[in-house]
Amino acid sequence: MKKILILGSSGSIGVNTLNVVRKFPDKFKVVGLTVNSRIELLEQQIKEFRPEFVVVTNESKARELKSNIGNLCDVLSGNDELLKAASERDYDILLGAIVGFAGLQPTLEAIKRGKRIALANKETLVVAGEIVNKLVLEHNAEIIPVDSEHSAIYQCLVGENLNEVEKLILTASGGPFLNKDKSLFENVTVDEALNHPNWKMGNKVSIDSATMMNKGLEVIEAHWLFGLPVKKIEVVIHPQSIIHSMVQFVDGAIKAQLGLPDMKLPIQYALTFPERLQNDFKRTDLPVINALNFFKPDFDKFECLKLAFEVIKVGGTAPCILNAANEVAVEKFINKKIKFSQISQLINKALDKVENHSDPDIETIFECDKKTREFLMDAGF
Ligand code: NDP
Ligand code: MG
Repeated sequence: MKKILILGSSGSIGVNTLNVVRKFPDKFKVVGLTVNSRIELLEQQIKEFRPEFVVVTNESKARELKSNIGNLCDVLSGNDELLKAASERDYDILLGAIVGFAGLQPTLEAIKRGKRIALANKETLVVAGEIVNKLVLEHNAEIIPVDSEHSAIYQCLVGENLNEVEKLILTASGGPFLNKDKSLFENVTVDEALNHPNWKMGNKVSIDSATMMNKGLEVIEAHWLFGLPVKKIEVVIHPQSIIHSMVQFVDGAIKAQLGLPDMKLPIQYALTFPERLQNDFKRTDLPVINALNFFKPDFDKFECLKLAFEVIKVGGTAPCILNAANEVAVEKFINKKIKFSQISQLINKALDKVENHSDPDIETIFECDKKTREFLMDAGF
């Protein structure tokens, strides 16, 4: 029986994780759940999964939940309690599904305890990949990716030698605007941008998919997860999202992992690796799918993707600046403060103006995230 702590249980990945856990009551026990403020959903989850404790980072929402559920479980509140949950509570696997930079600190706490981390929060590796890798080695921790592309690559690499990898091929659906002319980006609405053709995800990652920043973040994530230079990582548009990613080896062979676009499988794999457990999830019916297509991405149209390739070459805190600026820009777009086409402009501006530090330690990363947000605030966007 593995004890699981789920950070971000009210989100799209959090809910899917519970959909997996529900299927294996004799394999997994949920010991803790955390959310920011969506306590109605958390209350249902508490009643069903009976965790020992929950953390609600929003303090007034935590008080409200406490009065609603009595002593069904411990209700803790605030960011410090979130960190304490990761650093002190008893669990075997931390499922990291908080969105954005906020996911970094609790993940670091779990790494320092040598835990298995089933990691959905790609931003952790984007902003602090090098530091994370050092800590993982030092503390004998384990990061198993939940992101479907990285899970696919992880699965393709089982039994293989990393030295024999020629390149990683990350597939991208292209998002809702794959076939839209760039001149029309000016006027796309929030609803259009949120309307992903293949996946139902949280708002931030959905907008990232529309700008293709998501694929850019995933290139950086893959670079740190698999220790390969960006020149060995290629992005290919594959609109059906059936091939989740591929690995090409030095002899020219390509291995791919296929499946329906459903996060339950990569989540289950990250929880059970190296085992595979029988499940009843819907199977891929290839004749029904009929055709798989592939195209080169358009880097001029999707500037965010280009910027992500650039920052990893620059190194230092550049990926952290890119990530923070993107989080600010996406939030502003969702709140209708800027246009879709301005997202990449804001990121460009931050990359241009916020000072880059080479070889940053973790304090420098936190400082850089803060400075980038302040810069964009002061710049009056
Ligand atoms: P959601 O927005 O659906 O969920 C985010 C979760 O994090 C919620 O539980 C939310 O709580 C919580 N949260 C938000 N802000 C904070 C904060 N400041 N402190 C503590 N908790 C917070 O996101 P997704 O589930 O879509 O994505 C989660 C992560 O997984 C992202 O990094 C994303 O890139 C990655 N990912 C997602 C995929 C998907 O299919 N959704 C696929 C691959 C990767 P509340 O609900 O109360 O706001
Ligand atoms: Mg992905």
